[in-house]
Amino acid sequence: MRQTILLITALGLTAVFFFMLGSQSNVAEENLQTKVAETIETIPTKEFPNPVTDKTHTATLTEGDTLTLSNNISIEVVSLSQESDTLNIEMLHYITDDNGTTFPINVEDSPKTHKLTLGDSSKNWNEDYAYKIKLKEINGESFTAELTALSEWLNSPKDLYDDCMSSKDDHDTCYIYSLYEPVQGEIQLQSEHFIVIGPEYSQSYMEFMSSQFEYCYTDMMDYLQIDEEIPFFPVRILPSDNSSGGAVGDNGMKLLGPERMLSRDNSSKTASTNFCDNSLLSHELVHAAMRGTPLSSVFNEGLATYYSVVVKHPILICKADGYIYRDNEKVEFAVLNKGGRLQTEQYHTGACFWDEYVKDNGYNVFLETIQVLKEADGQQISTLDLINEALGIDFTEARSKYGFTSNSEKNFQQAQKATANKWLE
Ligand SMILES: [Zn+2]
Repeated sequence: MRQTILLITALGLTAVFFFMLGSQSNVAEENLQTKVAETIETIPTKEFPNPVTDKTHTATLTEGDTLTLSNNISIEVVSLSQESDTLNIEMLHYITDDNGTTFPINVEDSPKTHKLTLGDSSKNWNEDYAYKIKLKEINGESFTAELTALSEWLNSPKDLYDDCMSSKDDHDTCYIYSLYEPVQGEIQLQSEHFIVIGPEYSQSYMEFMSSQFEYCYTDMMDYLQIDEEIPFFPVRILPSDNSSGGAVGDNGMKLLGPERMLSRDNSSKTASTNFCDNSLLSHELVHAAMRGTPLSSVFNEGLATYYSVVVKHPILICKADGYIYRDNEKVEFAVLNKGGRLQTEQYHTGACFWDEYVKDNGYNVFLETIQVLKEADGQQISTLDLINEALGIDFTEARSKYGFTSNSEKNFQQAQKATANKWLE
């Protein structure tokens, strides 16, 4: 039995999902069909007036202005602020769809030339997919810039995707260039907050997941009491030969290995309920909601795991010095500040840290903590420091119990920097 459990946990939290699937019900299935039929629709295209057709265009822009450049690429100035000698311009760029990518420009002294890179800037494999933005003049509330398209042939995300595929031949890398539009062999399902795109053959799995997304999202938002809605969120189902599970990153959420999830348990093809019955989604949605906050890796994974398998789909029981996972024997807490890739034991120990935090301080303080974290969005501060400063909570006891050392804060900060722009599984 011990071996089996280890194997299951080694597969990650995805395994939990299979156990949580409910039994099939015809009524539920009918509801699902209705719901899916209602939710399949075309994504609206954001309309910008007066597209510019010249390759190079000079424009004076202020906060709130939008401009459609050649190639259907639109720019919106979402914020403009000046701090001493630094001008911060935050722009969104759109490629025909309704969802922009933030593009900040920091101008320190003399105007410089900036590049607006399309797709994932960390994978800047071809600089031609960009606009050159040359700042000519800055006048407090507005700025004048010369915008030059560097690729004339580019007309859609699919063009970007196709070209990426022609050079890289790797769908898992290239799909990010067409985040909101299916490419060849893919279909899309849309619900109120999510667009789910995946391979045609995984349609039944996608239908199940699309309906689950909204239920799980509502429950998660209620539990963490987050008011702001997440922006329309892209989810990609990616085929995978040797792994399954989920992750959240700069390009939305990805769910791996639908064929494994389908074949593993036939009920996953059609089973549905009208409530959140999927711990994988519960876990990933916490990541989606908490992105950008100063949660270093163990606290981030711990929080997502705490919500998904302690609170929402309870199968992990935290004890004073360890935890019980399903019917397994008790496992002692893992050391949390180890660095490197987190193991399942650290996910579970991190979850128990939060479990104890809630038990010791109460749910209301937990909610305050979530609020403090959300307000500190983008700050470089360790999770424990932030909570300690904002709420005066002492972690002396927790330090020894959960294996924090005197170097913990430093390690956490390093871990946080290391994971800031990475996919969180
Ligand atoms: Zn996670």
